[in-house]
Amino acid sequence: MDLKAHIRGIADFPKPGILFYDISTLLAHAAAWRAAVSRLAALIRPYEPELLAGIESRGFLVAAPLALELGLGFVMLRKPRKLPGETIGLDYALEYGSDRIEMQADAVAAGKRVVLLDDLLATGGTMAAGVSLLRQAGAVVPATAALIELSFLGGRQRLDTPFESLVAYE
Ligand code: IMP
Repeated sequence: MDLKAHIRGIADFPKPGILFYDISTLLAHAAAWRAAVSRLAALIRPYEPELLAGIESRGFLVAAPLALELGLGFVMLRKPRKLPGETIGLDYALEYGSDRIEMQADAVAAGKRVVLLDDLLATGGTMAAGVSLLRQAGAVVPATAALIELSFLGGRQRLDTPFESLVAYE
């Protein structure tokens, strides 16, 4: 299964000059999506996760089926003010401005091995922030992973965990 054949590049989204990699077509194709989930599960299994985490919102689409595939639970890293109860959060810098992610304070038991997932790794800023937040919550993060990696942006060099991806664009 050629996963790249099921991922579209859409020019000038969300801003002029940006080529946006769209996974809608991958999600809509049952066999390609099945293959993507199986392959990512095989890449992640050796890290022996006890729990998965996904970054809102497309990271949820990756983490939820993988959790079922691996027989694990998963936790949500969300945009600000979306989660009920006590939360912890982390502000992180973007190219222009900043953003914040949050998780429930009691979502991860101390020392749990949590693999963090997103749909795509670009500069790595979002993933690095997610790793820091999980550690703040007491997690051990043996690896991070995404469906797609924009390797020309060097995001994986910004991470201090092993990083796995299924598809890379040079
Ligand atoms: P980073 O923080 O620069 O690595 O950006 C990664 C985040 O932006 C991820 O949460 C992605 O969902 C989103 N993102 C950036 N570029 C794209 C793209 O081309 N397609 C889909 N999502 C993207």
